[in-house]
Formats: sequence, structure tokens, C-alpha cells
Amino acid sequence: MLTSNNKFVASILSLGLIVLAPIANSDSPAVTDKQTKVALVIHGGAGTILKKNMTAEKEKAYKDALKEALVAGYHILINQGSSTEAIKKSITIMENSPLFNAGKGAVFTHEGKNSLDASIMVGNDLSAGAIAGVETIKNPILLADKVRTDSVHVMMSGQGAEEFAKKQNIEQVDPKYFFTQRRWDSLQKALKSDAKQAVLPKDEADNFKFGTVGAVALDTNGVIAAGTSTGGMTNKRYGRIGDSPIIGAGTYANDQCGISATGHGEYFIRAAVTYDICALVAYKEMSINDAADKVIHDKLKAMGGDGGVVGLDNQGNIMMSFNTAGMYRASIDTDGNVTIKIYNN
Ligand code: ASP
Repeated sequence: MLTSNNKFVASILSLGLIVLAPIANSDSPAVTDKQTKVALVIHGGAGTILKKNMTAEKEKAYKDALKEALVAGYHILINQGSSTEAIKKSITIMENSPLFNAGKGAVFTHEGKNSLDASIMVGNDLSAGAIAGVETIKNPILLADKVRTDSVHVMMSGQGAEEFAKKQNIEQVDPKYFFTQRRWDSLQKALKSDAKQAVLPKDEADNFKFGTVGAVALDTNGVIAAGTSTGGMTNKRYGRIGDSPIIGAGTYANDQCGISATGHGEYFIRAAVTYDICALVAYKEMSINDAADKVIHDKLKAMGGDGGVVGLDNQGNIMMSFNTAGMYRASIDTDGNVTIKIYNN
């Protein structure tokens, strides 16, 4: 029989990475039951992600990026770091990857800019921070967390948020840093179809947003933290803000449940998706998986909203629910079982 320590090492070996020297070292403290209770789930966006549109190379690149983000966050949890630090680590790695619609690789606005939104919430004290419409913040999730820890506010936007970032020594970059040719081309396509008043096929239109990132973790103190980061939707205008920086829509955490969302933000805001799922868990005592399926497959779908959520409860039960063809997603559960998936299976 596998002990929890062996199981943990086996799961890490299955990831093909040796990053956990302190745990593997026999001088380090043994993995206790308390330590095995950690769990982490992440996403890199939902949409019409079809195998027929994917090359083996692209698929591998996404899976590798998810794996890197997952392992780095898990490393923190297993070394008794906080769920907040773990999700910040995982999200920062995805923000730094050009593959995702967050940080580097974010989609473009109608005016050809990158305008970034992020939020974070910690379940034990219901503390939360969010930023919207920033253009120079390398890792928006880190600024959102500063709003949570170092201000009396929950949400800051635009220039004010950037000024706050300066005071908090949060890294700022030239807006050119966020440029990727692929996202630029998507904007040009969107502008053309706007001009022709043409409606793009669903899988092409989805290319204009998907790639929002998020993470939810449970740490050894039983604290849940959830966070989400995005560039929003291609061709957005008039300072449009989606659900990702809105607590209760794109991100929510309490002492029982934590969720991060991705999808068509307008619907997620109106359905208060992440709060609604946690409310079903709290008031109806539903399992997090049943609660999420109800909101994503029944309520949201009936409204016409596409997307998905990842989350976990205070027992570390992992949830990944989406009503789209795919969602980039990965998790490590309390037994150390690793999942990395893209399509609907
Ligand atoms: N929810 C994001 C937004 O509407 C986009 C996405 O998750 O794909 O801004």
C-alpha cells in the first residue's frame, strides 16, 4: 500500500518533475496527515477548444504550462505555505506565459491596448482584492492581492490602481510587453467582422477571449483561496469590465468553498456564478460538484452563457465544471492524484 508520502512522491514523479527536494530529503519533516490535506485546482480558460483545431505541439505546450503552474503552486502548499501564496504562484506563471489571456498574451481592446483585470479572495476572513482596466501591471494578481492586504478598498481601477501599484512596488512594464502576434491578429479579424457586421463561427469567436486563468487552493490550515486573472474579451470597448475582477461573479471563497470562473463575463456577472455555487454549498448543503453543475449546466446555459469554473471545498474535493467544448484545467487532489485535461472527457 502506498503511504501518503509515497503517494505524494509518485504523483510528483508522474508530473515528471523533481522540484520538491525538501520533501524527498530524509532529514526533512515527514509528510503528516495534515500535510496531505492540501489540494490545488487551476484553469487556463474555457471555450470551443476542439481537438481538430489543435496540433500535438500546441496541446503539449498548454499541458506543459498547466503542469508548471500546478507544480509550483503545489510545492508551496506541501511545504506548508498558504493557499494565497500558492494560487498567486500558479496564476503568476500563467500570466507570464504567452499562451493564456492574462498578463503577457492578453487579448486586445478595440483601441489596440491590453487592459487587465484580476481578483483574489481568501475564505477564512472573506478578505478580497481586485483590480480592473490596468495597462502596465506585469502580474495583475499580485496587485489584486495588494489591494486586499494593503488598502481599505476591495477594488481599484485604471490609473488609480497603477498609482497604488507604484506605491506598493508592484512591477510595472511598458505596455508593449503584453503584445503577442496571435492576439493582435484576432483583434484585426474582429475589427473586420465588425465592419462587415459579420458573425464569426463560434470556435473562431471563442479565440477572442479564451485563456483567462485562475486557481483555487486549500492549505494545511484549512484555508481556501481563489483568484482569477484576464485580459477580458478581444475588441472590448468603452472600458468594458468582465466578471473576472468581480467578487461573487469571477472569484469567490469562504470557509467552505472556493471558485474561479472563466467564460462570457456578462453572463457570469448577471448570474453571480461563483457566489451562487458557494451559496448552494452553504445553504442547500449541496456538494461542490452538484452545485457547480447546477449553475453552469442549468442556470447559465439557460441564460445563454458559455464557460466554466474550477473550485474545491474545505475537504479538498476538486470541482471542474464547464458547458463549453473544452477548458484548460489541472488539479492535484488531497491524495496527490494529478489531472491535466483540455477537452470534454
Ligand atoms: N470572463 C472573462 C471576461 O469576460 C473572459 C474569459 O474568461 O474567457 O472578461
